Amino acid sequence: MYYIKKRLEISASHRLVLDYESKCSQLHGHNWVIELYCCAKELNENGMVEDFTFIKRKIKDRLDHQNLNDVLPFNPTAENIARWCVEQIPTCYKATVQESEGNWACYEEDSSPLAP
Ligand SMILES: [Zn+2]
Repeated sequence: MYYIKKRLEISASHRLVLDYESKCSQLHGHNWVIELYCCAKELNENGMVEDFTFIKRKIKDRLDHQNLNDVLPFNPTAENIARWCVEQIPTCYKATVQESEGNWACYEEDSSPLAP
C-alpha cells in the first residue's frame, strides 16, 4: 500500500449553528490546518497516489479566504469539514482539521486500511 499526506493552511471564517449559548455562534475566523491522508494499492499511470496539486485545488482553493457557511452546505464544525474533505478526494481515507492550537477533529472512513 502507498500512502501520501498533504498539509494545507487555510484562512477562513465560520459561525456555528448550535443549540446552546456559545461565542462560536458569532462569525469569527481561524487559521485552519487540514491534513489529508490518501492511499492506493497501486500507483496511477503517473506514478502517484494522488497529485498534491489536485488536493490543494479541491480543498484549499475552495475554502481559503471564504466564509465557510457560504461555501459548504452544512454546519461547518471541524468534524463536518474533516468528513467533507475525505469525500472530495477519491483516494483520501482520513482527514484531520485543526481549528485552533490544540483543537483538532478527525474523520476516518470505516473501511480505512488502518482500521482494526
Ligand atoms: Zn470557530
